[in-house]
Amino acid sequence: MPGRPDLVLPGRRLIIFVHGCFWHRHEGCPRTTTPKANNAYWMQKFAENTERDTRKTDQLRQSGWKVKVVWECEILDDATLDEIVREVATTPKVRP
Ligand SMILES: [Zn+2]
Repeated sequence: MPGRPDLVLPGRRLIIFVHGCFWHRHEGCPRTTTPKANNAYWMQKFAENTERDTRKTDQLRQSGWKVKVVWECEILDDATLDEIVREVATTPKVRP
């Protein structure tokens, strides 16, 4: 499966990725820092990561999966984690 998803719920055709904010560049997040040393290296690395994320998400959606990205910082917050779990639980089941 493209991108090695973190959680696959076949009954709901739902795939969840848990992304580290730093590596996957969570926009506006305080964890999304950019190292000053070797800046060009890091910018290249981050660009590759986000391109790969977009590509694999597109591939999965084209194959009929719903794709949800959960950020590392969201899991650390109890209220946000509750919302995510509720959202997953209310995603309708699909018929085989
Ligand atoms: Zn974040």
